[in-house]
Amino acid sequence: MEAGVSEGTGMSGDTGAERAARRDRAVRAAVEQGLLGPGTPIVGLLDVTGIRESAAALRSAFEAVTAPGTPVLHAFAVKASPLVPVLRLLHEAGIGAEVASPGELALARAAGVPAGRTVLDSPAKTPDELREALSLGIALNADNPQELERLDALVTGGTSASPLGIRVNPQVGGGSIEALSTATATSKFGVALRDEGAREWVVRAYLDRPWLTRLHAHTGSQGIPLALMAEGVRQTYALAEEINERAGRSQVDTLDIGGGLPVNFASEETTPTYAEYARVLSETVPGLFDGRYGLVTEFGRSLLAKHGTVVARVEYAKSAGGRPVAVTHAGVQVATRTVYAPGAWPLRIAAYDGKGLPRTGPDVVQDVAGPACFAGDLLAVGRAMPLLEQGDYAAALDTGAYYFAHHYAYNSLARPAVYGFVADEGGSVSFATVREAQRVEEIVAEAGGAYADALTVAVRRGDSGRS
Ligand SMILES: *Cc1c(COP(=O)(O)O)cnc(C)c1O
Repeated sequence: MEAGVSEGTGMSGDTGAERAARRDRAVRAAVEQGLLGPGTPIVGLLDVTGIRESAAALRSAFEAVTAPGTPVLHAFAVKASPLVPVLRLLHEAGIGAEVASPGELALARAAGVPAGRTVLDSPAKTPDELREALSLGIALNADNPQELERLDALVTGGTSASPLGIRVNPQVGGGSIEALSTATATSKFGVALRDEGAREWVVRAYLDRPWLTRLHAHTGSQGIPLALMAEGVRQTYALAEEINERAGRSQVDTLDIGGGLPVNFASEETTPTYAEYARVLSETVPGLFDGRYGLVTEFGRSLLAKHGTVVARVEYAKSAGGRPVAVTHAGVQVATRTVYAPGAWPLRIAAYDGKGLPRTGPDVVQDVAGPACFAGDLLAVGRAMPLLEQGDYAAALDTGAYYFAHHYAYNSLARPAVYGFVADEGGSVSFATVREAQRVEEIVAEAGGAYADALTVAVRRGDSGRS
């Protein structure tokens, strides 16, 4: 069994055991090479080999079900890991970028992702953002009628290369996590297809605008069953067929089916797999794969989650009310969802000793706490695992997406450094900096350090500091 992780059901022949072994080696090497220690008590680690494997698995899963020659763009949802070197790695592995803000677009461009492999999908695009995307030739999906009106004005007489579409909400229902269910009746995303008159409005919108050639839906993220995701895609496909039939031509030539493949946070096993999802899709919506439509996907979490680990030193090991509590440096600032919604987002925790070796020993029920000053700052509550001692390391597993790359600045805790690692056959591990740790001076600067007298002096002068 893999070290220190208290549960650990079947690895079922996937790469989980190898991934766990790579992670163990990386934690040990991070301690040995001084990336982790008393002075740097928290880091994020990214498994480069694992990320490449997931990218390859995604591509081959869709290649296996699409007609030869079908254009397929897998666009990584940048929000899942907004780190430039990650986007570059994925780009090299044949994966583009789905962006939803000026910042994410800038990250994709900094990573060298070409406009033709980028998709813009935010629900609140400003006129400037729309103009920029059109001038760059980036594909975008209008979220609502008002946005389409803006596009009308911008597209008229223009020469943009941007493929354009509309995002619809098939309203197929939600999954187990309300906040991540985008296809509920009242979701804020896209045109709600089952609302009165909405479907006809969408069809008309296409018939009136020959330049609308794509259709987009993203049915949800973590917590949505595969069958429900596939149903959302099926309904989107049916709408494309209706539009094309009424247009009398293949006006909609590309379907963007979104992302949302759930991740298994309960064990090392990768489940469901891209291959399973592709199979379910090809059974539910066979026409989608017969070569008449190009495809865009937008997976985020499923590409990165299992390849990230946040490792934190146990500063103190104490006991309260008879319960052992390991006070570590990883809490709400790197695992915000888990701390605020522990029922929806439980994380596995692996225990390592002060040398970075997997800690063994009998399971002891304990809490793993973070460094923030509120009682709920807990990575795990009442978890049975080998007892963490002072100077040990606690590793929060499967945190490669929406965790340490999504820093929450509570208590002005610094963003930890992130390193990518590669482990060779002989067992040696090399690291590369993906992001440096935030320095205290940066925290001060970002907290208005340059405007220290703004509220006591400058405001009386009416000096906004803006020129
Ligand atoms: C968040 C999001 C995704 C990615 O979802 P994952 O669950 O991370 O795969 C894809 N498309 C859109 C429009 C999104 O908002």
